Amino acid sequence: MDTVLTRSANKVSVKSILELKNLGKYFGGIRAVDGVDLSIREGELHCLIGPNGAGKSTIFKMIMGVYEPSVGSVYFEGKDITKKKNWERADMGLSIKMQIPGVFGELSVYDNMRIATQKHTKLAKMDEEITKLLDLMDVRHLKNEIVNNLSHGQQQWLEIAMSLACKPRLLLLDEPAAGMGPEETEFTAQLVRKLNKEGITILFIDHDMDFVRQIAQKVTVLHFGQKFAEGTISEIESNEEVVQIYLGNG
Ligand code: ADP
Ligand code: MG
Repeated sequence: MDTVLTRSANKVSVKSILELKNLGKYFGGIRAVDGVDLSIREGELHCLIGPNGAGKSTIFKMIMGVYEPSVGSVYFEGKDITKKKNWERADMGLSIKMQIPGVFGELSVYDNMRIATQKHTKLAKMDEEITKLLDLMDVRHLKNEIVNNLSHGQQQWLEIAMSLACKPRLLLLDEPAAGMGPEETEFTAQLVRKLNKEGITILFIDHDMDFVRQIAQKVTVLHFGQKFAEGTISEIESNEEVVQIYLGNG
């Protein structure tokens, strides 16, 4: 197994890696996230779904320390990280691929990877590390390409590669397959499963139920900032209330 990616074994354990307790975020009068409790077990591949505006991305931003919660707490590996800085969380093993791509379009693939890796890898090891990550995402041949010239899917994969540079134990993916065609979506699904097999716990957001069905072990449904349902994909798809709020018009 490739040690570039993993620090732990591939098993869903009884231990929680991430816990949200009564987490809330208010923007003026809007309760974007309203008292959410969520527990993600080590090794899990867990999906967060819900209609547009349900609060999914806001939850991710609170987990990463982009937004400070209005109420509640975030625990990572048993430690309260609610007040920790964004970079402290990354150092602890938390990483994210945001909904809006965070790549540098004017720079090459390699330079983007250098920026992502330099804090976490010694200079002498950097080339090797970058090559491993690019291979994994199937974009090694594009190493010297300017990022703006890549396809939408390739840019998303590059960004996932960048999010792996800190060797995360928990990876958050916000709509990793958004805007992709069927083949790119399939490749992304394979990729997410592969990363999970290598020991990374993954929490991802997606709208595309075909994609969710391919990879999620457990699904949490969010509605108006609150947890609405939780279960396996088949439990969620056969839950009539969920179908009404989400799947029916999704
Ligand atoms: P989702 O990702 O589920 O589509 P978001 O978490 O992006 O939803 O947004 C949840 C709600 O919070 C929406 O009503 C959105 O307009 C609002 N919201 C998100 N970010 C902000 C912000 N920075 N300022 C004001 N309102 C926001
Ligand atoms: Mg969102």
